[in-house]
Amino acid sequence: MSNCLFCKIVAGEIPANVVAQDERFLAFHDINPAAPTHILVIPRTHFANAAEMAATDPVLAGQFLAFATNVAQAQAHGGYRVVFNTGPDGGQTVEHVHAHLLGGRPLHWPPG
Ligand code: AMP
Ligand code: ZN
Repeated sequence: MSNCLFCKIVAGEIPANVVAQDERFLAFHDINPAAPTHILVIPRTHFANAAEMAATDPVLAGQFLAFATNVAQAQAHGGYRVVFNTGPDGGQTVEHVHAHLLGGRPLHWPPG
């Protein structure tokens, strides 16, 4: 999508600090980290949110989970949290599906 921030990162139009990538997915550091490890994982293809990705391409959604958890295990050795903020009440601000990988410190529960 032409006006999507994360599509622009995929296209190389906006720089990102990339930690892992393959032909389908990209993982890069969040610009405003909420934990010592805070990585965003996105598919190169645009979907508005995780539900749309899972409904449209469930195989890709499974591959996404495998890719994201591989990155998390490589980057956050004491454990981690995988979060899909979805919709206004979920705190989603970028309408291109992304998993937050959070770790590097004890994470509180429930989240705020
Ligand atoms: P969400 O609020 O769940 O939609 O998450 C969007 C995330 O994108 C936030 O944690 C932002 O800090 C992050 N973000 C916004 N712009 C950039 C950028 N240019 N590079 C990396 N992360 C970004
Ligand atoms: Zn997009």
